[in-house]
Amino acid sequence: MAQLLDGKEVAATLKEAMVKQIEGLKAKGIVPTLGIVRVGAKPDDLSYEKGATKTCADVGVAVKNYALPETASEGNLLKVIHEVNVDKNVHGVLLLQPLPKHINDKVIRVALLPAKDMDGVTDGSMAGLYSGSGAGYAPCTAESCIQILDHFKIDVAGKKAVVLGRSTVIGKPVALLLLEKNATVTICHSKTKDLPEVVQEADIVIVAIGRALSVGKEYFRAGQYVVDVGVNPKPNGEKGICGDVKFDEASLLVAGISPVPGGVGPVTTCMLVNHVIRAAVK
Ligand code: NAP
Repeated sequence: MAQLLDGKEVAATLKEAMVKQIEGLKAKGIVPTLGIVRVGAKPDDLSYEKGATKTCADVGVAVKNYALPETASEGNLLKVIHEVNVDKNVHGVLLLQPLPKHINDKVIRVALLPAKDMDGVTDGSMAGLYSGSGAGYAPCTAESCIQILDHFKIDVAGKKAVVLGRSTVIGKPVALLLLEKNATVTICHSKTKDLPEVVQEADIVIVAIGRALSVGKEYFRAGQYVVDVGVNPKPNGEKGICGDVKFDEASLLVAGISPVPGGVGPVTTCMLVNHVIRAAVK
């Protein structure tokens, strides 16, 4: 049976370290503060906001909410973005996305300062990740995958890593982060041929395709470490969420695998709060 790459364990360790860092900051009169900017009230946004707010409360980071109605104009949102950009007491910002269709997200992605962009959504943060310049922050979910591997001391240097998915929030950034750690990286997508064979060759597999329980035993072999990023409603109308990987099949074959729920999810909000602390330290 595979080692469980338990995200709750990773989150608990991160929180413990963050509490200590915050004590140090508060002793200097700095209260790390996250601004959460939301337009409308989509269930996914509310759920991310709730998780982020709880993690902030757990470790002692303050939260300032900027909730705009679904009908808010691009100008209204830009005004809020400029406000948080210049507010020295707001160290970082979570800008919930996707934005409503009447707002040009390209304009917003340029307006928010990378230094305040805690979830790596701006063009400047993406450029920073690409160039390794250190500008901005990596998307929290992508960084969580690396955090899980690091926590369980899974060294990726010189190993073959395969990433399933090429979105700008997960697939591409996680591939860059793995490359930065000297893995040899292959990025796969919906047009990749012979996908199971390609994945079988990997030592490290990151799965982020958003297809419930679609990656089964034919993809895996002994010795692999698998991080399942997928968050999907369970098929057949069952209650709850599931990953992209058929956990029951894969866990009989591979060396280690993260579960869903309880894998990447709990680590993601910790990475967000970790970014706020880093921003406050800066
Ligand atoms: P996305 O934007 O829909 O991208 C999915 C990617 O998977 C695309 O690159 C797509 O390829 C590829 N793909 C789709 N079907 C495929 C298949 N059968 N074989 C190979 N590749 C395939 O999704 P996302 O935003 O990256 O999210 C991926 C998953 O992560 C979702 O389940 C999402 O809910 C979850 N997620 C989790 C967290 C967390 O904190 N745990 C956070 C955010 C998202 P093409 O480019 O060719 O279309």
